[in-house]
Amino acid sequence: MNYRPGRIFLSAPHLGGHEKNYVLKALEDNWVTTTGPNLPGFEHDICQHTNARHAIALSSGTAAIHLALRLLGVQAGDEVLCSTFTFVASANPILYLGARPVFVESEPGTWNMSPEALHEAIAARLKVGKRPAALLLVHLYGMPARLKEILQLADEYGIPVIEDAAEALGSRYGGHQVGTFGRLGIFSFNGNKIITTSAGGALITADESLAAQARFLAAQAKDPAPFYQHSQMGYNYQLSNVSAGIGRGQIELLEKRVKQRREVFTFYRNRLQHIEGLEFMQEPKGSFSNRWLTTVLLPEGKQPEDLRQALEDENIETRLLWKPMHLQPLFAQQPYYGNNLSSMLFSRGLCLPSGSNLTEEELEKVVKHLRLLLEQA
Ligand SMILES: *Cc1c(COP(=O)(O)O)cnc(C)c1O
Repeated sequence: MNYRPGRIFLSAPHLGGHEKNYVLKALEDNWVTTTGPNLPGFEHDICQHTNARHAIALSSGTAAIHLALRLLGVQAGDEVLCSTFTFVASANPILYLGARPVFVESEPGTWNMSPEALHEAIAARLKVGKRPAALLLVHLYGMPARLKEILQLADEYGIPVIEDAAEALGSRYGGHQVGTFGRLGIFSFNGNKIITTSAGGALITADESLAAQARFLAAQAKDPAPFYQHSQMGYNYQLSNVSAGIGRGQIELLEKRVKQRREVFTFYRNRLQHIEGLEFMQEPKGSFSNRWLTTVLLPEGKQPEDLRQALEDENIETRLLWKPMHLQPLFAQQPYYGNNLSSMLFSRGLCLPSGSNLTEEELEKVVKHLRLLLEQA
């Protein structure tokens, strides 16, 4: 960690106070394990806040993606369509299963999967005799993807959809929480997400039998026998009851945290939109973003890495946009479809400090330094 006192973080945990009540209760009652009342409590809360039918609390968002792929029957040699503009955790679980990611480019409006590139990818894979086994759709930085067009294509070709809503808890599309549109959806409660359990995640689905199967696989796939018998390969992916306690306290605050993150976005936009060539991400009609991170595209001639370092000198943490998966050495051999929009985004973009607990003074400091760096010729 690059920690110096007074540091302005990109996205820090923001506790509300009730978390410790749930955690203390877990410690007092000796529920310091992967069972205990906070787990069904937290899962219930997730369903309440997202309108999901079933929620399974898990040890991470990555684990949730791995389970989701496994539940759809993805096997070694299969192909999985995946957004290229994302964090590596979206794509790694495809490799865990010995399957192959097929990366699909973004579109300019949402920075998420382009329906045109998706269509191109599906047609090209079918042409070489490969029917994609699943589609992993990411809602990046909290912005909902073009769900209508993408679900329509997926339906047409009979490809089941997993929504990676790790960054998009509280974001809505047509009034509904993202993650609830696909066969399965996932959230992350990592420390830098909009709410946290320190580390953790959840799988959501409307399908009761998939939910039951997820619980089974997440707990080492123990057969219903009086002894430890196993017919399938399972995982140790359960969340702890202590972590779930943090989650129960956190999720009470979700709507407030979304409001606060959106206020951070509005603050930056109001203070910086006059800078020529600086671009903010728009919210398409019908979409509501949790604004997990405020991201900007810099004016021509400005290098994101130069700005990042200059701000680092001021003890301000920023981050470049995700480097697209099809440009990663790890995935160099994997198919990719699109026009390289995400390479342009990567070369021009910066994520600004966006935590819900940033003070007005801290935001003013970020704006002051950004203006100094961007307004000089
Ligand atoms: C954080 C994140 C994940 C993984 O979640 P973890 O809980 O950290 O495993 C997956 N996808 C995206 C897009 C993320 O940002």
